[in-house]
Amino acid sequence: MLFGKKPGYDPDYDLKIEESLAKNEYPAEKLDAARASEHTSLCAQMCTKEVWDKYKDVVSSGPAKWTLARAINTGVTYPDSFVGCHAGDKESYDDFSDFFYPVIEKYHSGFSMEKGSDLKGTPSERMDPDRIKVDLSDSAKNKIASTRIRLARNLSMFPLNPGGSRQSREEVIDLMKKVYAVIPDESDLAGELFLHTTMSEEKRQSLIDAHFLFRGKDRMQAASGYHEHWPHGRGVYLNKAQTFINWINEGDHLRIISMEMGGNVRAVFERLSAGAKLIEDGVRAITGDEEVFMMHPKFGAVTCCPSNIGTGMRGSVHIMVPKLIEKIGFDEIDRLCRERNCQARGSSGEHSEVVDRIDVSNWRRIGLPEYELVEDMIRCANFLAEEEDKV
Ligand code: ADP
Ligand code: MG
Repeated sequence: MLFGKKPGYDPDYDLKIEESLAKNEYPAEKLDAARASEHTSLCAQMCTKEVWDKYKDVVSSGPAKWTLARAINTGVTYPDSFVGCHAGDKESYDDFSDFFYPVIEKYHSGFSMEKGSDLKGTPSERMDPDRIKVDLSDSAKNKIASTRIRLARNLSMFPLNPGGSRQSREEVIDLMKKVYAVIPDESDLAGELFLHTTMSEEKRQSLIDAHFLFRGKDRMQAASGYHEHWPHGRGVYLNKAQTFINWINEGDHLRIISMEMGGNVRAVFERLSAGAKLIEDGVRAITGDEEVFMMHPKFGAVTCCPSNIGTGMRGSVHIMVPKLIEKIGFDEIDRLCRERNCQARGSSGEHSEVVDRIDVSNWRRIGLPEYELVEDMIRCANFLAEEEDKV
């Protein structure tokens, strides 16, 4: 059975602009309430009245014609969001700098926008598995169900999706179709592209359940405009072994993913590096653009959400620590992870519950080479495994 017009989609998740923002008025009440709560989003912290007044009539100089009202819709609508703001194009970050720069510096602790990132070497050098100097302990390896490392990337020829259209999303996927079509059959990375417009509901759900596909239907993502024009332009590419995966237009244009069962972090990292290069070279061969992935001179890869900018890399393991969950709970585990520059997520990813496994990943994504971020994740997994063994 093919799904209907909007597969797995609920109209409740259509983009709605919060009432005050729709009138381009400062949402004082909502932001005050968010600031008074224990959990204050970065959006609520940084969007002061002064910042609002400075930018309320500014329109970004890029293709999205982005506004501050659009940028902060998620954080204003949902006081429980963590970041709560999004860019509509690359230019948004600089055009609203008094808002976005503090958000960036607060999220990526230790990073300074003034100094910028001075990562040495090419991406392939920084993603060389031989540069990873720490190993998973035997105890950690025994507890790891699977390993996944992804890069968030956007294509420089299009607006970011929250500021894009149905057409821009369709153009992204049309371009990617051509890139995948020329991957030689004998390559480990060769596979098939599945489109949301033609995929059966059963197929889609089975890919989600296997952790291969984004879920859609997320209230916070909807408020940022990620789900607009669903399902057009959405898709997923899977190689034959289901270890190299690309998400197309979930939020960012591309999520380039390498994953496999078990804890062979180096193999996952190596495949990701090769896969990212394949995609970059493949797009360049078609469009002729020198800058394939959208890059900012100060921080590197540009993404819709400020949490992903920089390397755009999140490396995670799914680790089984049932006794620790029972003893101290998820929130305390997350706190311990954050002390180690990592974070904990639920069994099905961000905003999901813990069923059995915990997703442990690097928290920072900027100003540090990719192999060091992988090391953060390995050290944190080793620590959690040790704590589990002590219970
Ligand atoms: P992302 O940072 O890529 O947006 P999400 O938190 O949205 O990640 O999760 C996306 C999907 O990837 C979810 O299905 C999640 O369970 C899955 N996932 C994340 N880490 C792993 C892992 N180490 N092994 C298997 N699946 C994973
Ligand atoms: Mg996600």
